[in-house]
Amino acid sequence: ETLIKANNLSIKYPNTTENVIDKTDFEICDNEIFVLVGPSGCGKSTILQAVAGFIPADGDLSMSGQKITEPDWNRGVVFQNSSLYPWFTVEKNIGFGLKARGFSPEKIHQRVDYLLDIIGLSEQRKSKTFELSGGMKQRVAIARVLANKSELLLMDEPFGALDAFTRFRMQQLILDIWQKEKTSIFMITHDLNEAIRCGSRIAVMNNHDKKIIQTFSNQFQGI
Ligand code: ADP
Ligand code: ADP
Repeated sequence: ETLIKANNLSIKYPNTTENVIDKTDFEICDNEIFVLVGPSGCGKSTILQAVAGFIPADGDLSMSGQKITEPDWNRGVVFQNSSLYPWFTVEKNIGFGLKARGFSPEKIHQRVDYLLDIIGLSEQRKSKTFELSGGMKQRVAIARVLANKSELLLMDEPFGALDAFTRFRMQQLILDIWQKEKTSIFMITHDLNEAIRCGSRIAVMNNHDKKIIQTFSNQFQGI
């Protein structure tokens, strides 16, 4: 089933005259990892930010039939350098949003336990996040977003700052999370290997067309 639908989507920034994205169409379905791949500067982040509701767009952009006009708990975002609270513990970073939303301490504890297990950081629950490696920090950032049970997880070059080995392990983690949590994921990357490893469907952009030029199902996911 279609989760995100974009029709004739165009985007420009306030300080630019030309569209950065020009009349693109795409759909993100329930339960898929939709990976948008293309060279740096082609407009991937711009599309993701419109889907997140951070920036306005022309044309139709909706989630489950509702027009996207602003950020929403239902669309959690992980950035390349997600800023955690460095002086808070791992568990507090993950549970903070839930606390702010008024969930009970028991509920929060339960959810945080489950997420720590998934991301493999149960041992580090009391560590301050400034003490963690880059890969660990990104795992906390992912858990923090998963805590909200967003319907769609948006990931903007989530592993771009990590070394190749850590990156490889993080890709596996994403595939594991996707299977356990049955979540829908929209991820952008400039790394073809990453796209092919993680995507159930892959959308491609180039540096000229300002739109998605091709979308295909990927038979190599998880390989
Ligand atoms: P990608 O994510 O594929 O690297 P971006 O979406 O970040 O590409 O950028 C697409 C184009 O939009 C680039 O030419 C970039 O310079 C421009 N751009 C991105 N953000 C802004 C902004 N805030 N203001 C003006 N131009 C921007
Ligand atoms: P990415 O790693 O996603 O490609 P960039 O390094 O292109 O991101 O951009 C980092 C940040 O700077 C983004 O928030 C983007 O919106 C902003 N940005 C990129 N290009 C421009 C630009 N030409 N003018 C203003 N802001 C920009």
